[in-house]
Amino acid sequence: MASTTTRDQDPSEPESAIKTARRQLQQAADHLDIDQNVIERLKHPKKVHEVTVPIERETGEVELYTGYRAQHDSVRGPFKGGLRYHPDVTREECVGLSMWMTWKCAVMDIPFGGAKGGIAVDPKDLSESEKEQLTRRFTNEIRSVIGPTKDIPAPDMGTDPQTMAWLMDAYSMQEGETIPGVVTGKPPIVGGSEGRDSAPGRSVAIIAREAIEYYDKDLTATSVAVQGFGSVGSNAAKLLDDWGANVVAVSDVNGGIYDANGVDTHAIPSHDEEPEAVLTHGAPETLTNDELLELDVDVVIPAAIGNVLTAENADDVAADIVIEGANGPTTSAASAIFAERNLPVIPDILANAGGVTVSYFEWLQDINRRAWSLDRVHDELETEMLAAWQGVREEFEARDVTWRDAAYIVALSRIAAAHEMRGLWP
Ligand code: GLU
Repeated sequence: MASTTTRDQDPSEPESAIKTARRQLQQAADHLDIDQNVIERLKHPKKVHEVTVPIERETGEVELYTGYRAQHDSVRGPFKGGLRYHPDVTREECVGLSMWMTWKCAVMDIPFGGAKGGIAVDPKDLSESEKEQLTRRFTNEIRSVIGPTKDIPAPDMGTDPQTMAWLMDAYSMQEGETIPGVVTGKPPIVGGSEGRDSAPGRSVAIIAREAIEYYDKDLTATSVAVQGFGSVGSNAAKLLDDWGANVVAVSDVNGGIYDANGVDTHAIPSHDEEPEAVLTHGAPETLTNDELLELDVDVVIPAAIGNVLTAENADDVAADIVIEGANGPTTSAASAIFAERNLPVIPDILANAGGVTVSYFEWLQDINRRAWSLDRVHDELETEMLAAWQGVREEFEARDVTWRDAAYIVALSRIAAAHEMRGLWP
């Protein structure tokens, strides 16, 4: 497998999301004949909005938080991407993540660009009503730069359908009309799509299933370890379990459980139902999150946070296939090691793209004021994921590159062609 990165290129990892995203972009661009000016433009966001969000805490004190909305590229359609509430949120992280959204939408061939936003806050420190205030005030601060044809937020780490409902309400109240298409990932009762919540995990499971078949394995004889039991990890684990795979390990922030005979994934509440419930579920063995990544299984799925596969542990990953459920779980240095080891890593921008794909379905439903059935969402998601998988697979086979480079090549070809066709103005 060819790779233009080297094993020792980056000793000071983990690098920031923006650096990783730029490096990945350049690496894919080297395989294509694209105007370097377009590549340089894509290394930078179009705009980054930074706002101060004050709220009155229940103690009576006023606290200030910093919020961001990074808008990377909109050549193929409105900016699109999640909103993250996490203490580590920074401008650089939002920019890097917004770049990944641009590629993710392009690899799926959906008519959106890329954005990402967030607030540097630990949502666990806030009461429900403080979270509501924070969301409404943040929405108001970024109101002029979002909208159903401008920029459409969605859930991400630390936010959920309720957060999106508050955002939609705050925006709609100011606009004087109900505008459900300003945000996706809402509860179905206020214009959300059936199946949106579970879509990122479903797409991870679909892509895992295809990759398992591609590498001549039988799904029912495949062992799987999943790191993270939030929306992505829990839904991916449950579906793979339903389809006959042997899910031997799952974890959350406190650690994981291991059962060689298979964990009963449906018996464990997901993070949304009951946070941090994995360890309370009886299993023969417990293990740390680091140990889970090094298990000798067929497939490992990091589906929690970024930068968990690094130069430190990449040589110790014993799985035959890595499927990226989280955004950015593999550092550049780890990617180079995996390429050298010929270990396939199916990238986040393909594997977890079911989220934004069903967001696109939701947006269509909102514009048409007509809801789809869950069966229709599942059928159309399956079709979109298989088409994207095939497009990436063709590049992978034709060019002898990594799966990540193949996905970037598909995405970048579409984005660059659109930039070249639209031109630079003024
Ligand atoms: N936050 C999700 C992601 O990283 C979904 C974004 C969206 O639906 O706009 O893909």
